[in-house]
Formats: sequence, structure tokens, C-alpha cells
Amino acid sequence: MLVVGGGSTGAGVVRDAAMRGFSAILLERGDLATGTTGRFHGLLHSGGRYAVKDPVAAVECVAENAILRRTAADCIEDTGGLFVTTKWDDPAFGDEFERGCRETGVPIEEIPVDEALRLEPRLDPTISRAFTVPDASLDPWKLVSGCARSAREHGARILPYHRVLELERRNGRVVGARVDNELTGEEVWIRAEVVVNAAGAWAGQIAELAGCKVTVLPGKGIMIAMNHRLVNTVVNRCKPPADGDIIVPIRTVSVIGTTDTRVADPDELEVTQQEIDEMLDEGEKLVPGFREARALRVWAGARPLFSAEDVSDTREVSRSHALLDHAERDGVEGLITITGGKTTTFRLMAEAAVDVVCARLGVDRPCRTHEEPLRGSEEGRFYWLGSRVQAREPVPRSEEIICECELITRDRLKAAMVTRPTTNLDDIRRMLRLGMGPCQGGFCIYRATGILHAYERLDSRAANASLLDFLQERWKGVHPILHGDQLRQASLDDWIFQGLLAVQHLPE
Ligand SMILES: Cc1cc2nc3c(=O)[nH]c(=O)nc-3n(C[C@H](O)[C@H](O)[C@H](O)COP(=O)(O)OP(=O)(O)OC[C@H]3O[C@@H](n4cnc5c(N)ncnc54)[C@H](O)[C@@H]3O)c2cc1C
Repeated sequence: MLVVGGGSTGAGVVRDAAMRGFSAILLERGDLATGTTGRFHGLLHSGGRYAVKDPVAAVECVAENAILRRTAADCIEDTGGLFVTTKWDDPAFGDEFERGCRETGVPIEEIPVDEALRLEPRLDPTISRAFTVPDASLDPWKLVSGCARSAREHGARILPYHRVLELERRNGRVVGARVDNELTGEEVWIRAEVVVNAAGAWAGQIAELAGCKVTVLPGKGIMIAMNHRLVNTVVNRCKPPADGDIIVPIRTVSVIGTTDTRVADPDELEVTQQEIDEMLDEGEKLVPGFREARALRVWAGARPLFSAEDVSDTREVSRSHALLDHAERDGVEGLITITGGKTTTFRLMAEAAVDVVCARLGVDRPCRTHEEPLRGSEEGRFYWLGSRVQAREPVPRSEEIICECELITRDRLKAAMVTRPTTNLDDIRRMLRLGMGPCQGGFCIYRATGILHAYERLDSRAANASLLDFLQERWKGVHPILHGDQLRQASLDDWIFQGLLAVQHLPE
């Protein structure tokens, strides 16, 4: 079997096929997950977004969300999701939303607004309703590479940087493909009994190589990554899907999205200033002050929206998937197209496609991808923001860095406190070089004070005094040379100590 397209769908298909004992090859023109899958919003849908407008897609998301939580846990951060009614949204939609979720099986609970604000303190405090749903954040690169690795372990070949140039037809049957190795320039012919076209927004182009017309409307969406986790939960506006109405926390950043504009070519995705401004304005409606965070990067992806007819508004096209058996549809044997859908439903799409292949080849080989977890997900543990630090620091906190400039760990600091029994941080500075590097104590000294306070059981008056003495001592050396970058650093320290910590007004 030849699978064209190395996004979530193709990776899912090749894994499923290999697990069912097919000899399978995946062809991707670039690296894996560099198409739409690597450019998506990062949301493992609960189904809530589609509960009212697209119930078929919602039902699929409900089932797949639960399956992926079991089988691909290591690719998921279980952030949870909130749908909130802001003052710009119709409050009556909340009831429709709740009804839609109940009808499609999306687990939902309305919670009091003050509870939602406790969960997400940055949300606009004027929100009038809040619902929880099991949305989560999904790492597409981990997911696709996990599927590819599993496929390889079951005997498949994964060929990134291999572009399909031509599909060979013989007697009304697709029998293989002419493929260009994009790294070496070498061209090869690969024979196959079945070709599965999983080329997403490019699926129309691949089908055309076999003389079949498939209308996939590329729906462009832009997203902007902001420099913080402005929210820790996936936050959706409670209204019919529109532009800029979801913020997804992903690792250390948060991503606002998205738009939906029909474009002619999935490889030509221009981002306009107007789209960026609209996106940031919408962010402001959910999280006041959104625009004051730093926008790190904007990018766009192309939704593979399959449509039986030509429509201009791509939001109207279902987010459910399309499975086309070209033998039935166009009289072309040996070619299956699987497109549309969501990354959330990629496994289901793969299962459906490989089921058709089995039926065509007259074999009965059941799917197992809903049961067999990906490597790393066997124990069903989700990743969380601190997992990478935890992996490097198996004994929690023992290697925690307290002073980044001088690489002083918590354990070294505590050892210094033991060997040099002193409550004076300036004494410890001389022993460890604590606070002697470029930030001059800006980031480490309040941490060290906290540790000293807990360790020596100092009362707050003594701990505060130790902190203030240290700062005073540092300031004496910094004050005469305040210019250029040193002035900037000192201003930052000043904001931290006076602005954030209000050291002049510490509680007694
Ligand atoms: C803006 C945006 C936000 C989204 N957000 C979400 C979300 O939060 N959650 C969610 O579940 N879904 C989301 N989606 C939908 C989801 O991203 C897509 O449905 C999914 O990624 C499609 O995966 P795919 O594998 O079918 O396509 P792709 O990932 O695009 O893979 C197709 C691959 O085919 C390759 N290809 C093309 N031509 C050839 C050729 N000639 N030879 C070899 N290879 C070729 C391409 O390079 C590409 O890598 C979003 C989509 C967009 C656009």
C-alpha cells in the first residue's frame, strides 16, 4: 500500500495498515507534519466547538478525544477547556450550546463564573457564563512521529522528502507512483496494489494525477503565538464558531486563532495586517491586556475541506471527514482518498480508509489502533509543562537552579547555609558567588531569601531584613555605574523588587 501525505492522516493510515499486516510505504514531499498538521491550532477537540453547528463532527471528536487520551496520552496536555460567554456574545447561545453538547455526548458542566475566574484569573471578569469541557492541547509532531515510529516497528517504510509526481494507471487501475526524492533528485517508480491519498488540502491535486476530480477547498486560518501562557486552560468563546475565538495554551506559550478564508492554493497562504489586528482585538475580549503581551510569531495553515459542491464560505463546510473509493465513484480501481476531518479525528479517518482497503482486497483484518497505545503512552500519563524539567531532575527540586548566572542549585545553597551558619545572604554570596553574575541578584536573591526563611525558620522580620540588606549592599556597587545596559538591568531588577514584590512594604 502506498500512502501519500505525511500529516496526521497519512501517519495514522500507514500505522494502521502496518499493524494490520500490510506492506506499506508513506510518501511525504517534505518532512513529516510540515503540512497543515504542523500548522494547526493545537487543540484536541472535546467536540464542544461543533456541538451546535456540526453535530456529526462533534460526535466523532467525542469518541476520538477519549481514545487518544488512552492511546496517545504522551502527546496530550490535559489542560481542560472552558467555553465562556463574554459581553460580546449572545447569552442565549449558552443554552443552545449546552443542549448541543448533551445531544452529541460532549461531557459538559456549567460552573459559576467566580469559579471560572479562579481557574483563569486573566479572563475578562465580566463573563456571564462558563462551561467546562474536556478540550486539551495536542502536540502534532509527537503524534505524527509516534505513529511513524510505530508503523516502522510494524514493518512500514516512511519516506519523507519524497514527492509524488505521477500516478500510474493501467487498465483503469492505479498501480503505482512516480516519486521524486527531493534530497537527491533521484526519481523512482513504486508499485502498489492500493494508493491511499491522504494529502489533506492537496488531496485534490493527487486525485487529479489519476484523472479523478476531488474538490478540496483550502480554508486558510492564521494563528498567533503569544509569549506567555496567558491561560492554562483552552478557552473558547461560547458562540457559533468565528474568527479569533479560541486561546490554546501550548507548552510555554499560548496561541490565539483562527480565521477561515477560502484560498485558491494551499501553498500560498498570505497573512495580512488586518487579520493580525483582528486576532489581537479578539484576544483582548477574552483576556484584557492581551495586546500588551508579546506576539511571537504568526503562521497560517490550510484546512482540507471536502465539499461536494463549490461554496464560498468555508466555515459552512462540515469538519467531518470524506472517504472516497474512486472505484465506486469514478471507476478508477486502487485509489482511495481520505481527507477533511480534524487532527483530533485522524485515527478514525485512518481506520475508515484501511477498512475500505481491506474490503477491496477481500481480507478481514480488524483495526487495533483504538486499543494499542503509542510508545511512551502505555501508562496513560499526559505530558505537563514541568515534565521536561522533571525528566532531567528525577529527585524533585534537588537540582533546581536558584541562581542562573552562577548555576547555583538549591542543594548547594542549602549546604552553604549549613556549613556557614549565617542568616546574612551577603555572607553566602561570598561563598557561592550568589548574585554576583550579570543580573546582580535580580532573579536569585528573592528565591534564596525564601529558602533561607524556610530552612533557618527565620521570622519574617529577620528574613526581610536579610533581603533588604543584600539589596542595599548590591545597590551601593551598582548605583555609580548606571548607564546603558546596566541601567536597563537595574531598572528590571527595580521592577521586580519594587513593582512585583514591593520590598519596601513587605508584611511583617
Ligand atoms: C488554522 C487551522 C487550525 C486547525 N486547528 C485544529 C485544531 O486545533 N484541532 C484539530 O483537531 N484540527 C485542527 N485543524 C485541522 C487539522 O489541522 C487538519 O484537519 C489536519 O492537520 C489535516 O491533516 P492531514 O494529514 O489530512 O493533512 P496535512 O497535515 O496537510 O498532510 C498532507 C501532506 O501531504 C503532503 N503532500 C502534498 N502533496 C504531496 C505530494 N505530491 N507528494 C507527497 N506528499 C504530498 C503535504 O506536504 C502534507 O504534509 C486546523 C486546521 C487549520 C488550517
